[in-house]
Amino acid sequence: MTDIITPSRATAKLIDGKAAAAAVDAAAAAGARQLEPRLGRAPCLAVVLVGEDPASQVYVRNKVRRTEAAGMRSVEHILPADISQAELLTVVRALNEDEGVDGILVQLPLPKGLDETEVVQTIRPDKDVDGLTAQSAGALVLGAPGMRPCTPSGSVFLAKQALGDLTGKSVVVIGRSILVGKPAALLFLAENCTVTLAHSRTQDLPAVCREADIIVAAVGRPNMVKGDWLKPGACVIDVGINRVEGENGKSRLVGDVDFEQAIETAGFVTPVPGGVGPMTIAMLLANTVAAAARRASLAVPGPVADVLPG
Ligand code: NAP
Repeated sequence: MTDIITPSRATAKLIDGKAAAAAVDAAAAAGARQLEPRLGRAPCLAVVLVGEDPASQVYVRNKVRRTEAAGMRSVEHILPADISQAELLTVVRALNEDEGVDGILVQLPLPKGLDETEVVQTIRPDKDVDGLTAQSAGALVLGAPGMRPCTPSGSVFLAKQALGDLTGKSVVVIGRSILVGKPAALLFLAENCTVTLAHSRTQDLPAVCREADIIVAAVGRPNMVKGDWLKPGACVIDVGINRVEGENGKSRLVGDVDFEQAIETAGFVTPVPGGVGPMTIAMLLANTVAAAARRASLAVPGPVADVLPG
């Protein structure tokens, strides 16, 4: 965590997602090293990329690079955008059956015409390192062991880094998507927080937000959450990634929270980029090590168990 030096009225501390992600990557690497002699191989993550979306290509490259840097095996399936649903399902089923693969990630969004839900639900739950199958979602609701979605797990990790024990904190999650908002709400609930799940129909959202010790913004609207929506000292976890035109005509990334305003009121803020973003892959690596251990009926290695949410 670093103090923000400028602007002069800033009160918030910056939550350094890159440093936190490096720590989680290191935990995954340590866990992979512990497992390798017992498995007789390194844990393995398979990534499926369909089509040529440039952002997805960058995400997949980063996933491969960080998987290998953590001492794990990476398998890539790069498939054409015009692949049929049946052919794509055949690839996923083959990965399901491959004993050497511990985790399967299908990069979303899929090109138009492909049924994302069917593809995701075809992934074997014990290899569902993205935590998006119905079984993983059910386990999260039940508080049973299972794969937790990566971005929400990263959000909880960062809030704990800033505040320590989260018991009793009031949390407002803005956004109720399956990918981020809903699982984030359940994960904060599992940390004994009092959770409000806000969305586009929430009445007087600024007033709702002002009650929160922790705000998790997962909306996809640039700079929507203003400084006067925040309780002084609040912890702001900005999940949003929005590309906007910069002053010099170049595009830049901003979050869902007005960063310049937030740092004048909040106690802690995640920057965009460099906040929640890097945590997503880190939690994917941790989930892959956990999947490898559970599939072999071994305990999840301590360093990984320590960084994953309950
Ligand atoms: P999504 O599926 O589009 O969901 C957006 C949610 O925001 C919806 O629940 C929607 O409410 C709500 N919303 C929209 N306008 C609102 C408003 N004016 N006031 C309150 N709530 C409003 O988006 P998502 O997949 O959850 O992603 C959200 C953001 O997180 C995006 O910027 C995305 O790029 C980013 N993201 C980042 C990462 C990462 O690694 N850091 C990972 C995933 C996503 P309704 O349900 O009522 O429509």
